[in-house]
Amino acid sequence: MHFLPIFANVADRRCLLVGGGEVATRKADLLCKRGAQLNIVAPKLSRELQALTEQGRITHRAGHFEATDLDGCWLVIAATDDPAVNAQVAELAKLRGLLVNVADQPGLGNFILPSVIDRDPIQIAVSSGGASPVLSRLLRTRLETLIPTTYGQLARLVESVRDQVKAHFPSGTQRRRFWESLLQSPFTDLVLAGRRDEAVQLLQQQLASDDPKTPIQGEVYLVGGGPGDPDLLTFRALRLMQQADVVVYDRLVSPGVLELTRRDAEKIYVGKERDNHTVPQEGINQLLARLAKEGKRVLRLKGGDPFIFGRGGEEIETLVAEGVPFQVVPGITAASGTAAYAGIPLTHRDYAQSCVFVTGHLKDGTMNLNWPMLAQPNQTVVVYMGSLGLPLLCQELMRHGMPAKKPIALVQQATTQNQRVFTGTLATLPEIVRNANIQPPSLIIVGDVVKLHQTLAWFKPTPVQ
Ligand code: SAH
Repeated sequence: MHFLPIFANVADRRCLLVGGGEVATRKADLLCKRGAQLNIVAPKLSRELQALTEQGRITHRAGHFEATDLDGCWLVIAATDDPAVNAQVAELAKLRGLLVNVADQPGLGNFILPSVIDRDPIQIAVSSGGASPVLSRLLRTRLETLIPTTYGQLARLVESVRDQVKAHFPSGTQRRRFWESLLQSPFTDLVLAGRRDEAVQLLQQQLASDDPKTPIQGEVYLVGGGPGDPDLLTFRALRLMQQADVVVYDRLVSPGVLELTRRDAEKIYVGKERDNHTVPQEGINQLLARLAKEGKRVLRLKGGDPFIFGRGGEEIETLVAEGVPFQVVPGITAASGTAAYAGIPLTHRDYAQSCVFVTGHLKDGTMNLNWPMLAQPNQTVVVYMGSLGLPLLCQELMRHGMPAKKPIALVQQATTQNQRVFTGTLATLPEIVRNANIQPPSLIIVGDVVKLHQTLAWFKPTPVQ
């Protein structure tokens, strides 16, 4: 089931709770805390519910559920211990187009109540869509330990000065930048440590020194997104991904990585499929400079590492020429990702003392490489963009003296759930992969280290379609 997460305002809304036991008590507590006008229908009430009734916080009709109980209601929760009654409540409420939840039977209603990490006014809702309440509860517990209990105070303090900050900075972008910088400064630590006065002082100083007339400075973040698995991003990459205004990305960036960029950032796809450059390189270079000059924080997100066959150098050369500030964040290059996830160390005291990275991109049907150097013993050769030219690569290496039995691997979509590893020798691999329907991107590793895959492979992906 797929649910749309929303936070509903129940204040002064008429809500109905059917049931008076332990589960109903928990639900009543939730609704009352948010100011709902709650009516309970049940033959008998728990002690806590009775107390709430006596305090006048809820109303109670003693008896069994009847259709007329739904009159004038906005939201209904069925929490009796009789599944037939719960089903009936859900059925009738849905017929009337009401919001209805059935405790412990999410499929019967039309909304569910998530597990909540409550740092009022901040609330984090966790749901597994009904698949596993235990899993959401465990996740909730983990988040509870991560988020300081004083987080709510931070939100309240921010709220109290929002109008002042709004009046100071007329532009929304300036405000967002101010808050981003303040909330990642010692201000946050001061509030969380209960030193509110010092925090307010810091905030006021910051505000006074931040002239709203200073033009907004744009910047480019050239960030390596790694080979695919989002877990392999660096902390810095993630931080910049979260604060970018625009994301300029290409085909190699995996969907999981792209998902971690700021949700409301503008996303610009600049393609780059083999021989089908959606936006020419010069166009990308200019685009980055132009966006930054408009005052935007531009995330140039690339697969792997931006400085390894990533044209990152060319892009920042243009930025330097145009006087645009930038920073570069390294990423895990395909060779490292593949080596780790396929269990093929790139160097090893017994097999390879050096390692070379080359591009096997075919140009006019040939590869312009230094073959005698690549055919040297005791080294590992990693070939990027080489899968189309694999037969030629193997032929040339053998022609320049590499033994036909030299181990070689081709790894498809390394570090992802679609990773596939093919191993063979220079003589056999082209035939092995010919009909294997290889999906890009894939990387080739040549050298005796490939033998170690047999024993060192540890990553067992579950292919997704
Ligand atoms: N800057 C990137 C490389 C860009 S060149 C990096 O540092 O990884 C593109 C080539 O990288 C692809 O043709 C392929 O050979 C390789 N590649 C990138 N991601 C890969 C992956 N997940 N699995 C296998 N090869 C990959």
